[in-house]
Amino acid sequence: MDLQGRVAIVTGSSRGIGKCIAQNLAQVGAKLVAVSRNAEDTADLVQQIKDQGGDAISIQADVSVAADVDKMVQGTVETFGQIDILVNNAGITRDSLLARMKEDDWDAVMNINLKGAFLCSAAVAKVMAKKRYGRIINISSVVGQMGNIGQANYCASKCGLVGLTRSNARELARRNITVNAVAPGFIETDMTATLPEKVCNDMMAQIPQGRFGSPQDIADAVIFLASEQAGYITGHELSVNGGMYM
Ligand code: NAD
Repeated sequence: MDLQGRVAIVTGSSRGIGKCIAQNLAQVGAKLVAVSRNAEDTADLVQQIKDQGGDAISIQADVSVAADVDKMVQGTVETFGQIDILVNNAGITRDSLLARMKEDDWDAVMNINLKGAFLCSAAVAKVMAKKRYGRIINISSVVGQMGNIGQANYCASKCGLVGLTRSNARELARRNITVNAVAPGFIETDMTATLPEKVCNDMMAQIPQGRFGSPQDIADAVIFLASEQAGYITGHELSVNGGMYM
């Protein structure tokens, strides 16, 4: 894959899957905009990309705040003049059983995981449409497909993201902008590190390949969907889950 000359925004790129996607996009030549709630959190990543001969900047933005998202788009265009790729990766969990789930937990997850992707997609699509080129990739989840006990808010947000993906894919197709989702299975990151051993063992028992995924497994799928070669794929949710759900 060659993304020389392309400009890519990755939300939530301070760690985990987002960081790995950002590193991979830069490795294949994209100019990288590393977005996080605290710009200091992506300083090392930006320096690493520059040390390897790439081009990258940090932009501070909370994806659930419209003014921050506008600032993110403005900052990207001021520095690089265009936006070709958006990866809506930022996401959180606030798990609890339905009966105990607080309204705040519901709202926080919806605001970041779903509204954040809406705000970023809408703002970035305006820039992409002018150039008649774009790739938007939303990071959904296997549990958005299956459902999961204790994750009503998270699963609803990730399932909603697929509806957003399909609608935006239809709406933006004539502008040569593709919109797809990547649905990770169980990936070893900070998000899953705190899960109890029993939950991890139960998950593992459901994975035909017999291993948890890595951020690299997700980055590989994202790079493909961000490439020229994936130009006729839109509105698709690509599962990367070791066979956990099929
Ligand atoms: P993580 O918690 O390690 O990283 C999440 C990133 O999002 C962090 O950089 C965090 O700072 C950022 N973020 C959170 N709220 C934000 C906000 N309001 N604005 C900007 N950035 C914000 O999680 P991860 O495992 O790397 O997950 C990345 C994405 O993949 C998430 O959308 C997650 O839901 C999804 N996912 C993860 C798994 C998994 O097993 N780890 C499985 C399926 C889907």
